[in-house]
Amino acid sequence: MFEKVARPDAVRRWEGEFPVRHRYTPGVAGEVFFTALRDRGVLLGSRCEECDYVYVPARLFCERCFAELAADTEVGPSGELVSFTIVFEGVDGESLNRPETLGLVRPDGADAVLLHRVLETGDEPLEIGERVEVVLKPEAERTGSILDIEGFRIVEP
Ligand SMILES: [Zn+2]
Repeated sequence: MFEKVARPDAVRRWEGEFPVRHRYTPGVAGEVFFTALRDRGVLLGSRCEECDYVYVPARLFCERCFAELAADTEVGPSGELVSFTIVFEGVDGESLNRPETLGLVRPDGADAVLLHRVLETGDEPLEIGERVEVVLKPEAERTGSILDIEGFRIVEP
């Protein structure tokens, strides 16, 4: 429901609970990605030979040329920190007890980036281009979710 709000004083409101549920389906290639993450602890991507581009997570088709892709290219577990931000509020606007650092990481062998937590940032300020590696939950605790990745940690040079 999109409406242009021209008069903020005329905004309609819904009082009380708003019963919305959703279920995210990762799709065929996403399913392969999450299964590989859970069972083998690896990041699976998809290479488009036409575009010479490696997606991660894996894709069913190339978003550039629409070629059919396979979820068969292992990337990472190390990579490069491409960007990061520090957040002080949770997804519902609540203050976090401890700020969290979120990083965009390009896993080795991939062209695309993954967004996840940066763990143990230490005393030194983060720098773009730093080497990081993925930290996974213990195998017995993985469920086939993006949270099977605990985050990325800085790799000392
Ligand atoms: Zn392509």
